[in-house]
Amino acid sequence: MNRAILPGTFDPFTNGHLDILQRAIGMFDVITIAVAPSKKQTVFTLEERIGLIKGAVKDVKRVEVASFEGLLMDYVRRTGARAVIRGLRAISDFEYEFQMALMNRRLDPEVETVFLMPSLEYTFLSSSIIKEVAYYGGCVTGLVPANVEQALKEKYKITGCK
Ligand code: ADP
Repeated sequence: MNRAILPGTFDPFTNGHLDILQRAIGMFDVITIAVAPSKKQTVFTLEERIGLIKGAVKDVKRVEVASFEGLLMDYVRRTGARAVIRGLRAISDFEYEFQMALMNRRLDPEVETVFLMPSLEYTFLSSSIIKEVAYYGGCVTGLVPANVEQALKEKYKITGCK
């Protein structure tokens, strides 16, 4: 089974993440979305983030949602995956991703990092900008899955799009 891991914090899951997932599904048998606890404070708890991703991908076949702790490459090895998928939006992503990919290769030379680019309409999208806009009551329709939009409305007590 050709499995790949799509790791991240997903606080919360956006249509940019979904775009990358759909591209990755075309390349592997199974994709495991692996949710990391995060060293930084998150708006959504680990359980909430997992629940939101499960809701968002419920109609997508060959996708699993899990969480992991510790070193990503240890987790990747335990799952038997051959690749780690990362999304690349802009040059600003490159430096950190390049560093991380080469470090991960050093930790396990048998696992490749595969970079995928999202559709142009999602290249500006990040979980942080979604939270910032939603916090001030801005409209995020079409940028996040419907269940994530609903969760943001509840979290920030906003009514949504005017
Ligand atoms: P991190 O792993 O840094 O916590 P995220 O959880 O936000 O990052 O995202 C997980 C993965 O999805 C990363 O590879 C990130 O570059 C990618 N990603 C996030 N938003 C987008 C987007 N709009 N388009 C493409 N890839 C994205």
